[in-house]
Amino acid sequence: MLKTRFTELMGIEHPICQGGMQWVAKADLAAAVSNGGGLGIMTALTQPDPDALIKEVERCRTMTDKPFGVNLTILPSLKPIPHAEYAQAIIDSGVKIVETAGNNPGKFIDMFKAAGIKVIHKCTAVRHALTAQRLGVDAISIDGFECAGHVGEDDITNQILIPLAVDALDIPVIGSGGFGEGRQLAAALALGAEGINMGTRFMATKEAPIHDAVKQRLVDAGERDSILIMRALRNTSRVFRNTVSEQVAQIEKEKGMAFEIGDVAELVAGARGKNVYGTGDVEEGMWSAGMVAGVIHDVPTCKELIERIVSDAEEVIRGRMAKLVA
Ligand code: NAD
Repeated sequence: MLKTRFTELMGIEHPICQGGMQWVAKADLAAAVSNGGGLGIMTALTQPDPDALIKEVERCRTMTDKPFGVNLTILPSLKPIPHAEYAQAIIDSGVKIVETAGNNPGKFIDMFKAAGIKVIHKCTAVRHALTAQRLGVDAISIDGFECAGHVGEDDITNQILIPLAVDALDIPVIGSGGFGEGRQLAAALALGAEGINMGTRFMATKEAPIHDAVKQRLVDAGERDSILIMRALRNTSRVFRNTVSEQVAQIEKEKGMAFEIGDVAELVAGARGKNVYGTGDVEEGMWSAGMVAGVIHDVPTCKELIERIVSDAEEVIRGRMAKLVA
């Protein structure tokens, strides 16, 4: 067992949180992670509307009696998103853990806290983490440049970000981005983190509600199979390298400073990327994946994965590391 301030705060067995991945983080995956002793997270915006989110939370409760949370991401989008209505639905659903991400969570913190909800804020910079702490969040998920999806604009890896965040903050910090193995969990703990958040690694699990071909593509992929797009819009995203994302990167390069979202909207649309997970055609649209693909070699159950990571981390800490001390 690895007991940390994060496991205590969240009431979970293992210091492993599952990332709120758009189109992937549904009740099935969140329940499987929570049943495996980690913290499962469902993504609010994956549900078509706030009422559907409430029903999805109810569905999750039928599959687990362990703690789980809901992710609310606030980012630019092609169609307007009623974030405040999703936030209210989270409160109405009775969920007691929320992960905010993408932008300053300020306008929702007071309503979540008043409802007795614990808030984890995910961000890519120490200065943003300090703001979130001041606003009253309970924990920070610090998202290194290795991560999938929205990496921020600073390009700081976890090797630097985690120790700096831990030194700057009083609340518990977990490391996010690039994590998938026990030795990496041990490394995150050595850097001062109280746990890890994993997104892409949980996509390659039996319970992830996506096509097997996508899981196999992650197993086959290496650490160089992601690509950064949308830097020109200051909304940089790390996505899987395929013909669609390479086309987006090429258009961005050609347009330079004149690049606009309208130049690639049809290519990057989430609705198109969503199809990838349903059909298994990994070239059909843009989909998020991190550098961690390089260390994904199999498709276990969530419970098997969590238990393996924790026992490998324990072995590193108790065995290899302890023996190094002369
Ligand atoms: P979408 O189809 O609205 O947009 C596709 C991509 O283009 C997204 O990365 C989006 O941020 C970006 N984008 C859209 N309009 C933009 C603009 N005006 N300027 C810069 N970038 C722009 O996205 P979607 O896949 O339907 O997702 C809906 C929302 O959820 C988006 O805001 C998206 O960023 C966010 N999201 C959440 C997660 C998560 O893990 N919770 C992951 C990915 C995306």
